[in-house]
Amino acid sequence: MPQIIDGKMVSAMIKDELKAQVTALKNEQGISICLAVIQVGNDPASTVYVGNKKKACAYIGIDSLSYELPEETTQAELVSLIRELNQKEEVTGILVQLPLPDHIEEDEIIRAIDPQKDVDGFHPQSVGALCIGQPGFISCTPAGIIQLLKRSGITIAGKECVIVGRSNIVGKPMALLLLRENATVTVAHSKTVNLQEITRRADILVVAVGRPRMITREYVKEGAVVIDVGIHRNEAGKLCGDVDYEDVAPVCSAITPVPGGVGPMTIAMLLYNCVEAGKAGRR
Ligand code: NDP
Repeated sequence: MPQIIDGKMVSAMIKDELKAQVTALKNEQGISICLAVIQVGNDPASTVYVGNKKKACAYIGIDSLSYELPEETTQAELVSLIRELNQKEEVTGILVQLPLPDHIEEDEIIRAIDPQKDVDGFHPQSVGALCIGQPGFISCTPAGIIQLLKRSGITIAGKECVIVGRSNIVGKPMALLLLRENATVTVAHSKTVNLQEITRRADILVVAVGRPRMITREYVKEGAVVIDVGIHRNEAGKLCGDVDYEDVAPVCSAITPVPGGVGPMTIAMLLYNCVEAGKAGRR
């Protein structure tokens, strides 16, 4: 049987480390950390995500401020709120829950956030810094995957890594992070020819394709490590990933389950970014 990479356990460990840091920052340096969370409209999935993020903040001792704006909020109104929060010294991090309603231009909203408070790591300045190996906030899901691999005792350096998916929030930053860890990296996408041939080269296969159970054992080399980023509900209402877990688990050496794999790591790394933002903001 493969090693089950336990994201719940690793994320709990990280949260407890951060909780201790937050307490020390408060008690020893009088630093308090505050995340402003903005949600536009009331998409039920977004409401759940925002709720989980606020709960996680409370757990480690970070304050959170909620801005629940109506669906018809204009681009200008949203930008103006972000600018206001950029100026507020007590707000150390800003998160705008995506997706935004169709009439709002996401890129402009992301650019409006002060890069020093960009705890999602989506601002072009954060992405650019990652690209050239400078310090900056890193997109939470790929950062979480690196932590998962490292804390599960999986060596990255020198490994052949294949990522299926090239989104700005997962695939691309994942490629840059694996490269930074000295892996040899290939990024596949919907126009890739002979996908199976490429994925079967991977020692570490990261799947962020957004298609339920697309990756079956034919895509996986015997003994590979398989990281499943996808989250879907199957016909029976149960959560599943982009990887067909039952089919793939017997052929790989380690695999992340869904739920309980990559998902919990995303929030843990958001908290990590919040703490870093708090420290940097109050120096
Ligand atoms: P996107 O839809 O933005 O990107 C999907 C990528 O997969 C694209 O690059 C697309 O290629 C590629 N792709 C689609 N179909 C194929 C195919 N048949 N063969 C090869 N490549 C294909 O998704 P995200 O990156 O945002 O998310 C991916 C998954 O991860 C989703 O299930 C999402 O719900 C989940 N997710 C989970 C998170 C977590 O915390 N666990 C966080 C973020 C996302 P192209 O670029 O050519 O269109």
